[in-house]
Amino acid sequence: MEKKTIRDIDTKELRGKKILVRCDFNVPLKDGEITDDTRIRAALPTIRYLLESGAKVVLCSHLGRPKGEVNEKYSMKPVAERLSEELDAKVKCAEDVTGPSAKDMANELKEGEAGLLENVRFDPREEKNEESLAIELADLIGNEGIYVNDAFGTAHRAHASTEGVAHHVDESVAGLLMEREIEKLGAVLEKPEEPFVAILGGAKVSDKIGVIENLMQKVQTIEIGGAMANTFLKAKGYDIGSSKYEEDKIEVAKQIMKDALNKGVEIILPKDARVAKIAEGEELTPETVESAEHKNVKLNVEGKGESLEGWQILDVGDTTLTYFADRLENAKTVVWNGPVGLFEFDQFAIGTNAIAKVLSEIDATTIIGGGDSAAAVKKAGLQDKMTHISTGGGASLEFLEGKKLPGIECLLDK
Ligand code: ADP
Ligand code: MG
Repeated sequence: MEKKTIRDIDTKELRGKKILVRCDFNVPLKDGEITDDTRIRAALPTIRYLLESGAKVVLCSHLGRPKGEVNEKYSMKPVAERLSEELDAKVKCAEDVTGPSAKDMANELKEGEAGLLENVRFDPREEKNEESLAIELADLIGNEGIYVNDAFGTAHRAHASTEGVAHHVDESVAGLLMEREIEKLGAVLEKPEEPFVAILGGAKVSDKIGVIENLMQKVQTIEIGGAMANTFLKAKGYDIGSSKYEEDKIEVAKQIMKDALNKGVEIILPKDARVAKIAEGEELTPETVESAEHKNVKLNVEGKGESLEGWQILDVGDTTLTYFADRLENAKTVVWNGPVGLFEFDQFAIGTNAIAKVLSEIDATTIIGGGDSAAAVKKAGLQDKMTHISTGGGASLEFLEGKKLPGIECLLDK
């Protein structure tokens, strides 16, 4: 999937051109303050590249879920302020998306200047991908304008600013962040160096079925942890006590294990676990989790060994980790999606942290997808030791499922 990028355009051609850049500035806010500006910083290379080329840069993004209505709580103004600081130059924020203020702002931009449109989701036509909005967005940059999609995080959505607009602009290309995501995630699907190991965890099997099925065609080993593993263990007749699992996914789990057997793909399930004395259905809050008694147990088939009734599996155990690490140490490609435990609590982040550490030390291409997995790696301080941490949660999942993402498909091929 070779998509044209801004680097494929002669920089001389960028000078003086109006360029609409769809970014992912969907940052967390608390009382109007940005609490994590990772996404803003991730967009800077593309913005700087265009500004240094003398382009007139019209930035746009969504922020939160204003549901098609103007809501000051989700205004892009704090983002424009942060951008101004980062770029050391004033980035104006328009009062509307494609109205008079946006038009004036776009028209008044000088070479090497950037301005930001108001939250595209203030317009009800954005998420419906209505053509009229796509045309208005394209009109902001005029006939000569170029559309750049750098918002990998929303590339799985066909919205007016992520997909529709590309049909009304002659030249639609990928930004540098988008380019890197396509290259890194694409490489593991197209030409992974073997042995290829997938580590899958997280809350639900249902979220990850597509990823398992697609990766099954490519990997030699799948290591399963997290609450997701409970459904697999249950399907194999293991005692999982009062742990969370998905009754309606037992058959899916059985089928996956059967397919793996037929393909010669090894599936490694937890052999032991860290369990906490928390009754079935009881919510996992800081109060219930932190005060609960916990221990490391060997997992057994139902009826054998000590009963886990009244206990919940919240992390993989040490023996499991040695099995996991053993395969990872020889791996040349690793894709990790989903924490293997309730990592938000230190006593159940042991497995997740151990995996992050092994991945940071091995000589392999290591790709992290999924919002919580990325957060776990950052929390462990190992983000710089990975080959690639995807900036897109849902988008990276769909990419790994082998789906075509509309925000990428709409861009020109190289
Ligand atoms: P990602 O965002 O990386 O794709 P998911 O959203 O699928 O990951 O899953 C992450 C969530 O799964 C985390 O909130 C984590 O606490 C939870 N989780 C993992 N293991 C368990 C477990 N054994 N019991 C309960 N929750 C778990
Ligand atoms: Mg998640």
